[in-house]
Amino acid sequence: MSYSNWIISNKTRLCCVIGHPIDKSLSPIMHNEAFRAKGLDYVYLAFDVDETYLKEAVEGLRALKVRGFNVTMPYKVSIINFLDRIDKEASLVGAVNTVVNDNDELIGYNTDVNGVISALESKVNSLKGFKALLIGAGGVARACIVALFLKGCKEIIIMNRTLNKAKLMLNELSKKLNIICKLEELNIDSLKKATASVDIIINATPIGTYPNLNESIIPKELIKKDMVVFDVVYNPKKTKLIRDAEKIGAKTIPGYEMFIGQGVASFKLWTGIDAPIDVMRKAVLKALR
Ligand code: NAP
Repeated sequence: MSYSNWIISNKTRLCCVIGHPIDKSLSPIMHNEAFRAKGLDYVYLAFDVDETYLKEAVEGLRALKVRGFNVTMPYKVSIINFLDRIDKEASLVGAVNTVVNDNDELIGYNTDVNGVISALESKVNSLKGFKALLIGAGGVARACIVALFLKGCKEIIIMNRTLNKAKLMLNELSKKLNIICKLEELNIDSLKKATASVDIIINATPIGTYPNLNESIIPKELIKKDMVVFDVVYNPKKTKLIRDAEKIGAKTIPGYEMFIGQGVASFKLWTGIDAPIDVMRKAVLKALR
């Protein structure tokens, strides 16, 4: 179905994203293209929800029988209070980015974990025996830790600007996951030491996001050819970290791979059918251009 013969009818099902702010979200472009490509009578919208109305917004979505919705910053954790239940991975991460409305029961999932896994799998088959350096301790860092654990990574060095926040995250996650995690201060000496021994580096901070195109969390000289470098930032398409790593000859994973991966998993949860990944990738890359 193309847009020219696309008709919104009394049968059209609604999916959406809620967050604040929401004006930069690429999810409507990606999911509407995917629904059209599969000929599904669905539409996807973005709603900017103020924190004071989060509960009402969720109850409204339930009352309107929307099929499902994505949740983005800053509500990925607080949304849990308004759902009926959450699945195992969302519970491991402690955050939800996708909700399915199953006959008025709101079930929370975390497809960011799927996104990280599919991004990693685009360049490495297995992480068994890998040692990782993860920078950041926010929502995406949590999804990265769960994904690394599920992919068999044996050890993670975690660095964060605010060490206490990383400690709290680790206290919570180490109760649920059997993985060795070491906490280090984020500074040049600890970066030098860690990059000498790790197989994969993940930036899970916003450093390098548009318009800061020349900022990178890792100095170029610390990147090695035999490393995998994954930057969760997806705007720009290639951050400075990814450009530096490419120049050195390392394997690189740009953040849009994770973004597409989480969208693919959300699409399947809502529709029950496999997502048209090539259509979604094309839509996202076109929007990022
Ligand atoms: P978050 O929960 O706010 O966490 C941000 C993390 O970055 C914190 O650990 C924070 O450290 C650190 N940080 C922020 N500014 C920093 C700076 N100037 N220097 C050093 N560290 C800094 O955010 P999030 O939800 O994890 O999202 C992180 C990034 O992931 C977003 O900016 C976005 O670009 C990206 N993202 C990507 C996808 C995708 O699908 N690819 C999906 C969602 C988000 P402190 O603890 O010290 O504050």
